[in-house]
Amino acid sequence: MKIICIGRNYAKHIEELENERPETPVVFLKPDSAILPKKMPFFIPPFANSIHHEVEVLVKINKVGKYIDAKFAHKYYDEVGLGIDFTDREMQSKLKEKGLPWEKAKAFDGSAVIGEFHAKAKFDLENLNFQLIKNDSVVQDGNTKSMLWKIDELIAYVSQYFTLKKGDIIFTGTPEGVGKVEPNDNLVGILEGEKVFDLKIK
Ligand code: ZN
Repeated sequence: MKIICIGRNYAKHIEELENERPETPVVFLKPDSAILPKKMPFFIPPFANSIHHEVEVLVKINKVGKYIDAKFAHKYYDEVGLGIDFTDREMQSKLKEKGLPWEKAKAFDGSAVIGEFHAKAKFDLENLNFQLIKNDSVVQDGNTKSMLWKIDELIAYVSQYFTLKKGDIIFTGTPEGVGKVEPNDNLVGILEGEKVFDLKIK
C-alpha cells in the first residue's frame, strides 16, 4: 500500500508557515515503512530537532482506480479516519529552500500515525470536525469545510498520477496550529467527538 499526502490544503495553515497558496494540490508520498505500528509510542528520531504534529483527516481507498472523476470519487472510499503527518520542520525548511524533495523530513519511520477508521456514512464529510489534543489542551481544531480541495477533488487529482489501490491512504492536509512535540507529550486525536488515537511521544 502507499500513503499519498496533500500539503497546503487549509488557508490558515499556509499563512502560519508563510507558504504560497498553490494553484494545484501539493502532493507527496510516504512509504509503508512510515506507518507507526498501533499502540507504539512515537520515538523522536535522533536526526530531528523539530518534529511537528500535523493532524489530518484520512481517507482509505477501497478499490483500484485511475483517472477517477470527482463526481464518482465517493465510490472509492467507505471509511475516513484521523492521523498525524509528523514532520521534521527544520529539515523540511532546508529542503524547501534548496528545492529538494521532502522525504527525509516527512517520510521517515513512524511519521505516519493512522488512527481508527469509521464509516463515512456516519459523517457529513464537508463539515467534519476534528481536533488534536496535546497534554489536555486543544492545539489543532479543524473542519473539512476549510479545505481548499475537498476529498473527492483530491482523489480525482491524485489518481491522474498514481493508480489508487485498495488499502491506500490519503492524508488530506493539516489545518493551522502545527507545533513541536517533546518527549513525554501525549497526543489524542478526536474525530467528531470520538477518540481515534492516543499516542505518547518518547
Ligand atoms: Zn501534512
